[in-house]
Amino acid sequence: MTDKMEKEEGSISIHTENIFPIIKKWLYSDKDIFIRELVSNAVDAIHKLQNINLIDGLQLADEYKVDIHLDKEAGTLTVADNGIGMSADEVRKYINQIAFSSAEDFIEKFKKLEDKNQIIGHFGLGFYSSFMVAENVEIRTLSYQKDAVAVHWQCEGTTTYSLETTDKKERGTEVILHLNEDEKEFLEPDSVREVLKKFCNFLPVSITLEGEEINDKNPLWTKSAAEISEDEYKEFYRKLYPMSADPLFWIHLNIDFPFNLKGIVYFPHLTNEFDVTKSHIKLFCNQVFVSDNTPELIPEFLTPLQGCLDAPDLPLNVSRSYLQNDPQVRKIREVISGRVAAKIVDLAKNDREAFEPIWEDIHSFVKYGMMREDKFYEKVKDQVIYHATGEDKFTTLPEYLERAKEKHENKVYYANNEGAQATYLKLFKSQGMEVLILDAMIDNHFIQFLESKNSDLKFERVDSDITENLLEEDPSQKIVAGADNKTKEERIEQVFKDELDIKGLTIRIETLKDDSVPGMILLNEQSRRFKEMTHMMGQGEMPDMFADHTLMVNTASPAVEKILKLQDDGDSESANMLIEQIYDLAMLSHQAISKERMAGFLERSGKLLGMI
Ligand code: ADP
Repeated sequence: MTDKMEKEEGSISIHTENIFPIIKKWLYSDKDIFIRELVSNAVDAIHKLQNINLIDGLQLADEYKVDIHLDKEAGTLTVADNGIGMSADEVRKYINQIAFSSAEDFIEKFKKLEDKNQIIGHFGLGFYSSFMVAENVEIRTLSYQKDAVAVHWQCEGTTTYSLETTDKKERGTEVILHLNEDEKEFLEPDSVREVLKKFCNFLPVSITLEGEEINDKNPLWTKSAAEISEDEYKEFYRKLYPMSADPLFWIHLNIDFPFNLKGIVYFPHLTNEFDVTKSHIKLFCNQVFVSDNTPELIPEFLTPLQGCLDAPDLPLNVSRSYLQNDPQVRKIREVISGRVAAKIVDLAKNDREAFEPIWEDIHSFVKYGMMREDKFYEKVKDQVIYHATGEDKFTTLPEYLERAKEKHENKVYYANNEGAQATYLKLFKSQGMEVLILDAMIDNHFIQFLESKNSDLKFERVDSDITENLLEEDPSQKIVAGADNKTKEERIEQVFKDELDIKGLTIRIETLKDDSVPGMILLNEQSRRFKEMTHMMGQGEMPDMFADHTLMVNTASPAVEKILKLQDDGDSESANMLIEQIYDLAMLSHQAISKERMAGFLERSGKLLGMI
């Protein structure tokens, strides 16, 4: 190596196109990244030296660090490291050739992209990203090698450069950016600190700004899960998302094979402000922050997940659509889905008390995931829990079916609106029959899905039919009454049919074990579901659920008894008032009484009150 060399001037590239204006023009919107690129290079240079130390048994520094220095007067921002440094030949090779042609490659790719925000991490532009904010960039560097000579490289945003020896004493590299007039914000410590906090917060080498250390060198995901307490996980979460409540659960990933993936993902406590449609994961590459908008990495049904993923092998200067289909990214989604499933199984089996309140927050996502991914379904299917009436707690489907076996094998009764279905719920309760509450948006679909998965299983809403178990076994009501040879049931049916002239209404007479309900509306399960489904698909107005409906009249009710009596006494006017009232009450309990009938109902109610 020569001690002194003549100042050399040359052309960086044999290509005619000058990439500097393009760097500025194309990448203007995201110019902060030059700090990330330069600091990453500095950290790499330190890692290289650490490796050489290891191999050669050297000890070239006690303390490795990257320092960012701002000089307002000179108008410069300097990134200095005490890493491996470069010789003159290395500057020619790495900066003039390799770095330049990789920046060129990058720009070629970038130009072809229609949506510039589609690109993931922008890694690849590297050193030349400094020309986004500076016209004039200098490198002063001294290689770690014995007898190395320090060199000074300079380029003023044209394809020519100069290279000469200099008097730098300490090993390492300084990159000095003479900032453009309109980039002076990068001379403000607060602005630069913010950018460093964003990109360099978890870098493994000490990063200082004017002497003040910025980063946490050992973020939690780099440690082994066995060493970390619950409080530490929560504290790390608060560091990442300062204003948030404690997360519901988390998963620590530490995978080396077949790819590298480290990270901690948290399922947040969801609030109304939380946007469940947006990606919340922070993506890192060897502890360098890359992006917080990479929904591709997370299975769609787990979009609310927060936290950090460090995936050093991911291609980052590629477009979103590429990443979506990348086999490694697909594998990452599978791993996350598998680990979340395992966590759910673990909580459900080993900590049911903690699991139940969490379930309220996560069940829609879990159900959606089961419908979307068969593997996920298989893993968690036995852990799905439901609110059941009767039991004051949750139950699983197998547990429910086991208890219901005697009365209704393989049939699940459910309610999706406890208010509107209160009468039915009361009836079921009086007969000691449990009902599942399935009142979330997703439950309609989930029910269909479960039926498709288990051909024996049937779900019926409590108001869809009257089950055997609610009926009197031997309703000795069939005695012939009156001269017309009609049974009591036939007479009741007749008077109701005569009085209620309502389109789509069917009258059905039953004798319930419970005599407190005179009449109830039944809506056939299949036809109701069909209407709901066509509505969902057609986006049209909600179809009339009551276009076909059945009024079940309970002969056990004293009110119904009374109707026959009034008829026998020749007071059909009062009998008819009771019939209308029974129908309106049944519709009302369904929260389905029409505006037109409401007025009549109120007027009649007033009259009836006066009659008592
Ligand atoms: P990349 O970092 O992707 O390789 P860059 O354009 O950022 O591309 O840098 C090109 C090369 O220049 C690096 O691979 C490295 O060899 C060299 N280099 C850049 N910065 C430094 C530095 N601070 N210390 C030592 N070498 C450096």
